[in-house]
Amino acid sequence: MLAVSLAVAYVPTLLGLSAAPALARMQPDDRTVVDGLVFGALLFLFADFMSLTANLGVGAADLIWRGALLASFAGGLVVFAGLERLGGAAPARLAVWWAVGVGLHSLAEGIVVGHNLTLGLAQALRPLAVFSFVLHKVVEGLSVAVLMARGQRTGLPLQVMLASVAALPLAAGALLGAVRLAGAASSIFYALGAGSVAFILPAFAASRSRHPAAWTAAGAAGFLFVAVAALLHEL
Ligand SMILES: [Zn+2]
Repeated sequence: MLAVSLAVAYVPTLLGLSAAPALARMQPDDRTVVDGLVFGALLFLFADFMSLTANLGVGAADLIWRGALLASFAGGLVVFAGLERLGGAAPARLAVWWAVGVGLHSLAEGIVVGHNLTLGLAQALRPLAVFSFVLHKVVEGLSVAVLMARGQRTGLPLQVMLASVAALPLAAGALLGAVRLAGAASSIFYALGAGSVAFILPAFAASRSRHPAAWTAAGAAGFLFVAVAALLHEL
């Protein structure tokens, strides 16, 4: 379980994060394009989180349950906004907060992965499903790398640390999922994660005004890229 989590979550996240030094050396104009790409990709993931949050809920018709999910979403948004206010808006700090947000989302994913693994290894580890999952983890890592690059803090120790924060919760979630604990909790963590995405999205939109056309085109490309990956996942 731990080996699977490391292979499908930690390695690709770290791979995405390892782009940070190269991103830090980029011209501001080129970085606008990367911002757009990440924004588009996260926008798709956000829509995906929202539908998962709505669908995975046990007895989703239950008003209290829906309220709890909504509160988690809003709570995620408010907590991260509060952290940013307290800690200052330094981009390097933003990278840390966002890594925590990805970590919450990874915990939710882990619970689902753990559930799926108990249903059978062959079904859970279909090559296309693994490939698309790994791809989306690279994008998640890349989104953290963009913020690291902005703060010009891109050292390997920080990469390893933030990859751990962002991806290791998946292993914990997988263990919970495997013993069939916390099925409903995964929805709560998806909702918290979606709140953190709502918090971080504007950070990737800030540079849009510099090159609106390039940013928008990159955004569409990023959105499509993750959409195709998600489609592969369903095959
Ligand atoms: Zn994810």
